[in-house]
Amino acid sequence: MADLYPDRLLRRGEPAYEQARLDAVWNERKPERYPDVIVLAESEQDVVAAVRLARAEGLAVGIRSGGHSWVGNGVRDGGMLLDLSRLRDVTVDPAARTAAVGPAVKGPALLEQLAPHGLFFPTGHAPTVGIGGFILGGGYGWDSRRLGPACLSIEAVDVVLAGATLVHATDSSHPELLWAARGSGPGFFGVVTRFHLALHDLPRRILRTAHSYPMEMRDEVLAWSYDTLELLAPAVEFSAKVGFSPWLRQPTVSVTATAFCDTEEDLLAPLEDAPFRDRAIRAVVSQETDMAELYDYADRMTPAGMRWALDGIWTDEPVDKVLDAARPLFDSIPDTTSHVLWMLWGGHPERANSCWSSQAKLYLSPNAGWTDPAEDLAHEDWAHGRLADMQHLSKGLQFSDNNLADRFDHGLSPANSARLEEIRAVYDPEGRFRSFMAPRESTTAYAAAGHARTH
Ligand SMILES: Cc1cc2nc3c(=O)[nH]c(=O)nc-3n(C[C@H](O)[C@H](O)[C@H](O)COP(=O)(O)OP(=O)(O)OC[C@H]3O[C@@H](n4cnc5c(N)ncnc54)[C@H](O)[C@@H]3O)c2cc1C
Repeated sequence: MADLYPDRLLRRGEPAYEQARLDAVWNERKPERYPDVIVLAESEQDVVAAVRLARAEGLAVGIRSGGHSWVGNGVRDGGMLLDLSRLRDVTVDPAARTAAVGPAVKGPALLEQLAPHGLFFPTGHAPTVGIGGFILGGGYGWDSRRLGPACLSIEAVDVVLAGATLVHATDSSHPELLWAARGSGPGFFGVVTRFHLALHDLPRRILRTAHSYPMEMRDEVLAWSYDTLELLAPAVEFSAKVGFSPWLRQPTVSVTATAFCDTEEDLLAPLEDAPFRDRAIRAVVSQETDMAELYDYADRMTPAGMRWALDGIWTDEPVDKVLDAARPLFDSIPDTTSHVLWMLWGGHPERANSCWSSQAKLYLSPNAGWTDPAEDLAHEDWAHGRLADMQHLSKGLQFSDNNLADRFDHGLSPANSARLEEIRAVYDPEGRFRSFMAPRESTTAYAAAGHARTH
């Protein structure tokens, strides 16, 4: 097995090191954490060589694929940062309805290759998210209410293990490894070099409805949306956003529904029966759209070049209770960029072959976005602190949107969490791979102020 080419290995202090460290994190809020070594892998062989090097030098390995972890999870102090951003191959097998996908592939690149074959995959909402962290963490993508979180569509993974061996894990060969890959997020203990995905039918057409209402109608609209979910087909993705509308130049509560249709039926028709429908200040009704436009909407919600702090809880408590508890969060949205997402995923059946196990009807997620580093603490405190006050309603978090270090919450059921640690002890007994981030590792202003909680 070949060693790494020298130009793929950057040690701390070398000229290109700092740029590679900063580039590893999409968020403008870069972590103050410094790996000893950064490896820029260009192939599966490079990954194997990198893990061999880590073993030889006793380095713990952090991983980066698309770099969209809000907290830069792969960038840890000391050890190795294994950067997989160049692994972007996609191979489609239309007859088998599968694709083999490199970990840094982004949604648009994947869908572009699938569409000519009439195939589709529930990729992340923003066009820039890498499949690696997205799918390992569950992956709530386009049409996930019908198709399930993306991790349930993983058929197999190619993984470089702690011993620097490459294995192909399926439900019959290394089933426990594949079980863990379906949902353990930053707790996974290996490097996935390729995801083998089961594909879905390309929807015949996509329709979108969006209604915006004045902010004083917030509770009425959100409570209605909670009940209305039951009237909508699983092929309808349904959410609300509470915050400032750049189009209307005022604070609004807006509901958006996207229907992935296989027939001519208008799946969005029930939304027009909202009792307050005539009070909408802007409405788009069952308008035909496409993935490029949907990606564009999502991209504009959390634009690049800003500092972002995200958090979230799953809950299926009665809506009045949720609205009461969320009032301080809604009433203190810090600026015109920050907002709260109210995402009605509705819940999806868990599977014995997947560790993914934290969800409920509603995913409530504050998204804080700002530019001035002096405002870090105020924004982080809003996102994590206000949510910590709602902890009694939480059924857990989504690994993708949280790092556990700034606000601990369960991302797996207790049984699956315990099993994950048992399997890790077998596959990675020396802890070669970084696991979930601990509060002492967080470099946010929130953690520095001592607000990060472990339980
Ligand atoms: C703008 C934006 C929009 C988003 N939209 C969505 C959305 O619609 N739905 C959703 O579910 N999430 C969404 N997220 C969250 C996103 O899925 C997570 O941040 C995810 O971790 C991003 O994956 P990545 O590969 O880009 O991240 P990275 O930062 O590269 O990876 C995060 C962590 O995942 C693990 N990991 C990544 N790749 C591998 C690998 N190949 N092998 C082993 N471990 C690996 C590592 O622990 C790594 O540190 C969004 C995030 C952003 C910033």
